[in-house]
Amino acid sequence: MTSRYGASRADVEALLAEWGEPRYRAEQVWEALYRPVPLEEATALPRALRERLAEALPLELLSVVEATAADGLTTKWLWGAGPDAAQVETVLMRSRDRASVCVSSQAGCAMACSFCATGQAGLERHLTSGEIVEQVIRAAHASPQRVSNVVYMGMGEPLANYDAVWESVERLHGDFGLSARRITISTVGVVPGMRRLATEALPVTLAVSLHAADDDLRTSLVPLNHRYPIADVLDAAAEVAGARGRRVTFEYACIAGVNDGVDQAQALGRLLTAWPGAGGAHVNLIPLNPTAGYGGHATDRNRLRDFAAALAARGVNATVRRTRGVDIDAACGQLRARGAIPGEATGSATMVP
Ligand code: SAH
Repeated sequence: MTSRYGASRADVEALLAEWGEPRYRAEQVWEALYRPVPLEEATALPRALRERLAEALPLELLSVVEATAADGLTTKWLWGAGPDAAQVETVLMRSRDRASVCVSSQAGCAMACSFCATGQAGLERHLTSGEIVEQVIRAAHASPQRVSNVVYMGMGEPLANYDAVWESVERLHGDFGLSARRITISTVGVVPGMRRLATEALPVTLAVSLHAADDDLRTSLVPLNHRYPIADVLDAAAEVAGARGRRVTFEYACIAGVNDGVDQAQALGRLLTAWPGAGGAHVNLIPLNPTAGYGGHATDRNRLRDFAAALAARGVNATVRRTRGVDIDAACGQLRARGAIPGEATGSATMVP
C-alpha cells in the first residue's frame, strides 16, 4: 500500500482513475494533500472521497508524544514511523516572522558525534522521503502560521540518506511551495554528498557542523573527521557555495573548556577567512545542550561573546543561537533518549536559526 506522502502524483492519478473519478479530481486531491489542512477537512472534496482516500493512502507517523512549550511557540513530536514504529522526532519553532520545522532524516544516526544524544544511540534506520515530508505537513497542520522554513537538523545525517532526502526536498519545494533557500540541509561533513549537492539545480542552504578548527579535536568530537578532515569538508563546502550562489553556514557547538577558547576562535577565524566560499562564511554558535552520554557543559554567555568577538575581529560573522523548548526537551534526540517520557526539564533546548 502507498502512503499519503510516499505517493507520487502518478500514484494518485492511477488510484483515482481506478475508482472511476473524473480526471480533474487528481489535481484537486494532490493540491489538498499539500495544503496546511488535514485531508479529513479538505471540504473541496466530497466527504465519501476523503474517507476513501484516507483509508487508501494512510499516514505513516503515529504520534507517541506531542509537547508544546509554555510560551506556545515550540512544539515537539516523537513519532512511531512506519510498520516498525521507528522513533523519529520533529520540532516546530515559531516566531513573529517565521515558522520553522526541524525534521529528522533518519531514525537514530550512525555518525556517533560524542556530544549528540542521537549519535550516542546509533542508527535505527533511514527514513523514506514520505516520512520526511509527512513530518513537515503534520507540523504545518498544527501551526497557526504558515511554515516558512524547513531545516534538516533533527535526528540523522541527511547526506547519509541522500536519495530520500533529496526527493523530500523536491516535494517540499515543488508541491508544498517552499523556496529552496528556506530549506537548510545540515551535514556533519559527508564530502561526497556535499559534492553531489553542489550539482543539484535547487539552491538549498547548506549548514556544515564544524565544531572545531583543528583535526585532532574535531576527530574527537566528530569521528567522521577521520575520513573527511576539515580541509576536505571546507573544500566541498566552497564547491556548494560556488554553485548558484548558495548560502553556507557553519555550526559550532560551544563546549566549555573544549573548543571555546579565544585561541580556538582565532584559529577558526583564520580558517574561515581563507575559505573561498562566495559571500564569506557565517558561523552559528550553539551553546552545548547537555546530553546523558557526554560530560561536557555549555559555554557561558561572556565566553560566547568573547568567542564571537574574536571571530568578528577577523571579519567572520557569527550569531549566537537562542535556545528554545527548554521545558520540553526539544533538543535533538532527547525525547527518544528519555524513553518517550515527557516531563521534568533537563535544562536542554533546541536551537532556532
Ligand atoms: N547530522 C547533521 C544534522 C543533525 S544535528 C549534522 O550533524 O549537521 C543538527 C545540529 O545540532 C548539528 O550542528 C549538531 O552538531 C548539533 N548538535 C547535536 N547535538 C548537540 C548538542 N548536544 N548540543 C549542541 N548542538 C548539538
